[in-house]
Amino acid sequence: MAEKEIVIIGAGPGGYVAAIKAAQLGGKVTLIEKDELGGTCLNWGCIPTKVLLRGVELLETLEGAKEFGLQVNGVSVDLAKLMARKDRAVKTLVAGVSGLMKSNGIEVIKGKAGLLSPRKIQVLDQQNQTVAFEARRIILDPRGRPSRGHGQQRGFTAHPDSGLHGDHRRRADRSGVRNHLCGPENQGDHR
Ligand SMILES: Cc1cc2nc3c(=O)[nH]c(=O)nc-3n(C[C@H](O)[C@H](O)[C@H](O)COP(=O)(O)OP(=O)(O)OC[C@H]3O[C@@H](n4cnc5c(N)ncnc54)[C@H](O)[C@@H]3O)c2cc1C
Repeated sequence: MAEKEIVIIGAGPGGYVAAIKAAQLGGKVTLIEKDELGGTCLNWGCIPTKVLLRGVELLETLEGAKEFGLQVNGVSVDLAKLMARKDRAVKTLVAGVSGLMKSNGIEVIKGKAGLLSPRKIQVLDQQNQTVAFEARRIILDPRGRPSRGHGQQRGFTAHPDSGLHGDHRRRADRSGVRNHLCGPENQGDHR
């Protein structure tokens, strides 16, 4: 069975940053990701929501323009273009993470990993092939979860069905963005 030095499962902000740090400290690192580099934050969470919300903010500003004595006619939402802009931003950032993996000499394996024992990992890759190897050290970054507690009582934490909350949520609702972002297939999973 092949042996790896440091294996990190999950390439979200937790996993890919750990991978870079471990590589910079001299480790030989393998990063396993079942989906996209960058995890929830880059692909489905922080970045997409902020790109979409920026569009909604702009819409609100334009709608309020007449208060400033400006006449703006025909403002409407082109959801397809809004989503295309979001997709471009995500793609650019994911490519950036991919570049960082290469420049730090990190091996990236695309596939779903599972632990067979504290040191043995099995990966089902995208071609449905199973590979197993041993690792001297394993770091798990399978996913962060929204916290519940003080923040939620104050309306600050990510809502489980959308990741949007408070003022952001109201703005996204108004423009129809949230329905698109959090359609039934995404509810509770964000992807
Ligand atoms: C809508 C939304 C908006 C958000 N906005 C913000 C924000 O503005 N600011 C902020 O700080 N945070 C925000 N977050 C939270 C942020 O996305 C998470 O805190 C962050 O992504 C957690 O990083 P992580 O590396 O722990 O997990 P993740 O980013 O979830 O990464 C885990 C990775 O592990 C992979 N994985 C899981 N199991 C396996 C397996 N068996 N084999 C291989 N790979 C596996 C997953 O595919 C995923 O890529 C938001 C979240 C959501 C949902």
